[in-house]
Amino acid sequence: MAPHRTKLKHLRTWAFSLFLLLPSAGALWATPLLEIHFLYIGQGDAILIKSPAGKVAIVDAGPPSAKRILTRYLEKLQIKRVNLFLVTHPHLDHFGGWRSLQGKFKPLLYIDPAFPYPSPPYRRFLRHIRRAGIRSYTGKINQVLDLGGGVKLRVLAPRKPFLKNTRSDANSNSIVMRLEYKKLRVLLTGDAEKPTEYRLMRHPEWLPSHLLKVAHHGSHHSSSSRFLTFVRPTFAVISCGKHNRYGHPHKRALRRLHRASIKTFITARHGHVIARSNGKTLWLSIRGRSKAQALHTLQLKTLPQTYQRAISSSMANSSAAAFGGAIYNPSGPPLGQQAEKPKWYRHKLRGKTIVPPTPFPSSKGYVAAKRSSVFHRHSCRQVQHIPSKLRVYFRSRRAAIRSRRKPASDCIP
Ligand SMILES: [Zn+2]
Ligand SMILES: [Zn+2]
Repeated sequence: MAPHRTKLKHLRTWAFSLFLLLPSAGALWATPLLEIHFLYIGQGDAILIKSPAGKVAIVDAGPPSAKRILTRYLEKLQIKRVNLFLVTHPHLDHFGGWRSLQGKFKPLLYIDPAFPYPSPPYRRFLRHIRRAGIRSYTGKINQVLDLGGGVKLRVLAPRKPFLKNTRSDANSNSIVMRLEYKKLRVLLTGDAEKPTEYRLMRHPEWLPSHLLKVAHHGSHHSSSSRFLTFVRPTFAVISCGKHNRYGHPHKRALRRLHRASIKTFITARHGHVIARSNGKTLWLSIRGRSKAQALHTLQLKTLPQTYQRAISSSMANSSAAAFGGAIYNPSGPPLGQQAEKPKWYRHKLRGKTIVPPTPFPSSKGYVAAKRSSVFHRHSCRQVQHIPSKLRVYFRSRRAAIRSRRKPASDCIP
């Protein structure tokens, strides 16, 4: 017995040292990077974020015509599951391509600003989200969406009460987020307009970023020069369609970006724009090119908490009222009061940090519905009919039996 035991002990030590070695060996092959894909889907926004931990967030899904591009892109990246689908605001050019997120790409979590908006396509879309049993939350200021691997999306807007009587209340109440990963800061702005920018500038410490997703497809109602001095990005991305009827990007917005010496990419010109980062370096490439073919490489410096000089100079010669007054439009339509969002749609949120759920890690194992008295094999067809939020997973048959459930008669697990 004794020699056998020594042998076993030896084997164990050996296995343990191999286990210790593995992470460093992994680093030699390929360290997973954070990837942000600003997809060229025509006139609209669609951003795919993949954290080094493999979690996938889709921020906006473009117009309805984006469906095919999105599906193909998700397939190309071999994405198995969308952990989070976030719609910045209820305009069709930001959620229209949602049908690409059906079936195998069905998101595990849905977030939008819950801004009451009575358009029929939006209502249809919400009805689908509810019927598909996707957990949904209201995106609120100060929330943190944790994508794993150190990647966090910090929600900076909207804040209650919603902005009202602006040029476009739906746009002004867009979800604005800062993506944080080690040293990297990326600001995602939806279609936020100047009133939103003004609100954000009251918290200058939220804004400094290396990369800015330019708000509202480069319209001149956004990206004020002042706002740009608060963010001071090295790079900017404008997402818009070729020859779009809105004239996006507007030459005035482009001029402001140019004057602030921001290197600007436009999806209509460059195609998909891809940012990759390990938290220390940022690689920017276009049209699906790899990291090695990056157009720009930026060694990231830790950004100052705020750009103090910008703040004092811009605030000194402009009173808050003057800045706000110039852009508010009191005669605008009171969109915000027309319809209330149905009650079913909101889940109560506990705590500030939301971790988008991960599906059961393997296709093995057993699944049951929450209140059901039977359990199925993971591969059983019946499982697809159990809404994901009602599913209970078991790693072993024994665990399923222990939950006082019986084997289902269809797959006889
Ligand atoms: Zn838009
Ligand atoms: Zn919009």
